[in-house]
Amino acid sequence: MSEQSPGSGDDVRNVVIIGSGPAGLTAAIYTARANLEPLMIEGEPSSTSDQPGGQLMLTTEVENYPGFPEGVMGPELMANFRSQAERFGTEIDTAKVSRVDLTERPFRIWVGDTDGPPSHLAQSVIVSTGAQSLMLGLEAEQRLLGHGLSTCATCDGFFFRDQDIAVIGGGDSALEEALFLSRFGRTVTVIHRRDSLRASKIMQDRALANDKIAFRWNTVVEDMVGEQSLEALVLRDVLTDEITTEPFGGVFVAIGHRPNTDLFKGQLELKDNGYLVTHDGRSTTSIEGVFAAGDVQDDWYRQAITAAGSGCMAAIDAERWLEEHAV
Ligand code: NAP
Repeated sequence: MSEQSPGSGDDVRNVVIIGSGPAGLTAAIYTARANLEPLMIEGEPSSTSDQPGGQLMLTTEVENYPGFPEGVMGPELMANFRSQAERFGTEIDTAKVSRVDLTERPFRIWVGDTDGPPSHLAQSVIVSTGAQSLMLGLEAEQRLLGHGLSTCATCDGFFFRDQDIAVIGGGDSALEEALFLSRFGRTVTVIHRRDSLRASKIMQDRALANDKIAFRWNTVVEDMVGEQSLEALVLRDVLTDEITTEPFGGVFVAIGHRPNTDLFKGQLELKDNGYLVTHDGRSTTSIEGVFAAGDVQDDWYRQAITAAGSGCMAAIDAERWLEEHAV
């Protein structure tokens, strides 16, 4: 935890970065190299993707991050990001932000107890708290994530060449994943809990016309089998309650994402789906001096490389804003 106890103007940080995935750490590298002496509040270790390092901490091999022709393990990549940010003087607080007050400057940020004085004051804030893939809530998911279970076909589809792949969900994400995976898999089975899809008509038409894609209607996943890697899914037909165990080499859970924006509700403008609004292709939010980067404001690309790129944008936007406002 940080020892800093703000109170006087001298304690006001130029920039506080909340969240430490590829977006936050890239913002840290850039703002540190711009001599802004950033403080990053990185979160606390947990088993979900809102932990320090973000979603890549829950992945195994990353093959599509440029600069690593042989691939790199997700946690190793984030450790590299982190040491690069520290090398230029980023101060890192391993804590979770519990409250923010963005109504006036300097902005106020609390970690831990929210009743006392704020833990940090900041002239500018970069929000990079990320998003989480929704999961089914099965115990086996923790064990098999990165070992046959994935939440990102773009990232991991390549690993499932010629295998039988399952995709869980009935929305646009599930069908997009299924269509992408049909390039690699031997078969792709979309497992959906109802008998009609939520996805848009155009995506339905494409998926239904694809020979490699089959549908299992009215079916839920009760369990995932496999110790070291996924071997099979235990399926239940919700109409008959019949249970079957079916072999699959890979399973992609595509039942939606949840941005980590609870802290900012009622303060920053959010889209209907809960993601932060940024403006004009920049990282600016509805409050001047508050910038957003990475998956917390991106419901479209959701890639480590795009998050890193937007972290760079937020750092440059913050730097220019601080300069213009002579603080
Ligand atoms: P979504 O539209 O909320 O769909 C989630 C799907 O997962 C639904 O079919 C839902 O079933 C199912 N589901 C939810 N919880 C489940 C659970 N616990 N067990 C089993 N199934 C569960 O989410 P999304 O597909 O990620 O899409 C989010 C938004 O992004 C949408 O507006 C979508 O149009 C957009 N999007 C667009 C594209 C594109 O245009 N190419 C691609 C991706 C996403 P029910 O249907 O029974 O509720």
